[in-house]
Amino acid sequence: MEATHLRFSSSLLCNGSGSLPSGCVFKPFEALPIEYPQLSDAEQVKCECGAYATPWALESTRTSWMCSFCGASNACHSSAHSQFLNNCVQFTGGQRVPSRGSSLVFVLDNNLTKAQLNDISASIRAAFSALNDEIGWLSLITFSNVVTVYRCSLSGVASGDVFPDASSFMSASDHTKHAYVAPAASSREAFLSIMGALRGARRKLSVEALEGTRRARRREQFAFERRPRCLGAAIRIALQLAKDAPINGAASSGRIMVCTTGSPESTTAELSALGATARCQGAGLDVFAAGLEPLDLPMMEALVGPTGGYVVQHQSFAASEFGLSLATCLSEQHLPRCGAPVSTLEVRSSAGVEMKQLVGPAEAHQASSTGEAAVFELLRWDPRAAVSLYFDVSSAKEQHASFQLVVKSCVDGETVQRVFSHRIGVREATYEDGAEAAFLASLDAEVLAVLAVKQAVLAANDSTAETFEAARAQARDYAEGTLCTVLKHHRLTSQTNGGGLLLPEALAALPRLLYFAARGPLLGDAYKSVDEVRGLRHAFLRAGTDESITIMAPALLSTQRHVAQDLLTPVTADTLALWSDAHCCCDTWSRLFLWRGSDASDADEEACVEFLNENIVQRRFPAPTIVVCTEGSSMARFVVSRLNPSHNDSAEEQLASLPALALMSNEEREAVKAKWLWTDVPSLKQWLRRLAGGR
Ligand SMILES: [Zn+2]
Repeated sequence: MEATHLRFSSSLLCNGSGSLPSGCVFKPFEALPIEYPQLSDAEQVKCECGAYATPWALESTRTSWMCSFCGASNACHSSAHSQFLNNCVQFTGGQRVPSRGSSLVFVLDNNLTKAQLNDISASIRAAFSALNDEIGWLSLITFSNVVTVYRCSLSGVASGDVFPDASSFMSASDHTKHAYVAPAASSREAFLSIMGALRGARRKLSVEALEGTRRARRREQFAFERRPRCLGAAIRIALQLAKDAPINGAASSGRIMVCTTGSPESTTAELSALGATARCQGAGLDVFAAGLEPLDLPMMEALVGPTGGYVVQHQSFAASEFGLSLATCLSEQHLPRCGAPVSTLEVRSSAGVEMKQLVGPAEAHQASSTGEAAVFELLRWDPRAAVSLYFDVSSAKEQHASFQLVVKSCVDGETVQRVFSHRIGVREATYEDGAEAAFLASLDAEVLAVLAVKQAVLAANDSTAETFEAARAQARDYAEGTLCTVLKHHRLTSQTNGGGLLLPEALAALPRLLYFAARGPLLGDAYKSVDEVRGLRHAFLRAGTDESITIMAPALLSTQRHVAQDLLTPVTADTLALWSDAHCCCDTWSRLFLWRGSDASDADEEACVEFLNENIVQRRFPAPTIVVCTEGSSMARFVVSRLNPSHNDSAEEQLASLPALALMSNEEREAVKAKWLWTDVPSLKQWLRRLAGGR
């Protein structure tokens, strides 16, 4: 039985393939399907080196098994043990104790407007009612150039104390500090009413604006006083409050939720140190932002990174966006409790296969005594988070390479160990005819593209190139290079089509994925805002295969009458798929552009919004925004610019790319084509021809 949690880039290794990334994308905490064996801790079959028995370890005598990693021979007591039959086994131990101990600290920016505060308050109310008393303690802090801490346990009155910095708070008496931490069950309403009483940012009304033209006055209507933000001091105080919550028993965890509208007056080093303190203390940090001010994403990433936290940028703090994300964050993700063991990932590979790199929300684990395995600390229990592992397979000598990934976690007293074992055949390119062709055919194009683009994005983020654009261009070259390598290898091995561009079935999706990755927001210039690009990269680097693909390449859904069974069905993301009698949704991960054709009906629009809400918005984290635009409007350009301009291609190529065109009459087809002007942006086919010709 294969685990879907774990996807490798190929089902065969080949020694000559060193230039392509080799590895896997793995979701350590995603729920396992019910059919996987669930055993108790006592039933583990392990080798002395720490590795677990694998399905291919049993020797022919069935009385012993050979460790796939160190080669030691071990006695076998039952050849029918689940570990000899399954690639994935889960062991549980301990007793699960329902948690009611966590404390939740909201840290709100004083530059938030009254409207934004009202939205936040409504979102928190909705999240609270969905959480069923999971939260034990509540605190509320606001910050600008000073920090205000509110006494949430006092109902009917919004009472807060102002501290100019963190040290003045620390010197307050314990009695005072306890007044800031209120039991959630009894003070929820008081907490929400304090939020309702917060005044919000002050309007900027200058004399010039009052005396000026109508236009100047209108502009001023949207201008607010911007006060400096001492986020560092606010976080320091929040950490102290999370620590002070009078939680029963030693094990406690706190969640600190920062809602802000712009970048703080802090340094990356300061915020990164606070993130590390939070991690030691068993507290989690997440940042939610909305508004038009720049956020300085790298600084915020430094703050949340050590606790595996998220920086989420929404269009607004409304319940349909921020509210959904907040509820998901609070209900799905668990933090390691203070004093309890942290979650770890052990990675083993057989001789000749070296683990090179891990990308995702994990860090190398210091204290480990697990033999040859590489051990990482998984920063929070998050079912949506994925790690990508890269291996160097160039010196694999055996017939097979074995891999084992072991996830150990402890949530509310219950320990869970998941063992994923995987084996891949190895072929020697030099001596065997057709080995390389077999290798190319065994590639999983989606995983290969995700691994290559993650590496490129990481390089772009860490680049020392002078400008953001230069770093992006370098990374784009790297991603395109992956395709060039495949094309080169393919040309060497394919004799039938004379080195043409007909790729093996397994690789058919690769050009499209890399084309969109190179042109889209991750590596291309689709988005002008650096925050937006960094935000998407932040999500991408921790996303699983399917989610990564949606971020890399837009998915297009359409109500095209000719093909529809469901309301919105996937179609090729080409400009020619935008038919005037249809609604199309261009899913760019953070936004769902609902494009309305000029002849489409109103009733369909409502149905589409409902469909998208139910099937995408409610299920995705962070929740995306639906943006409705009509054909020909300025907003519709966003949709058109994200699609493959297939109207530049020849008629045969258009039909091959979008078979639904064949269902149209000639006149209809001409009408669709006539809508688009020739552009100098290369289509997928033109881009591929350039890459194939150039190398
Ligand atoms: Zn062993």
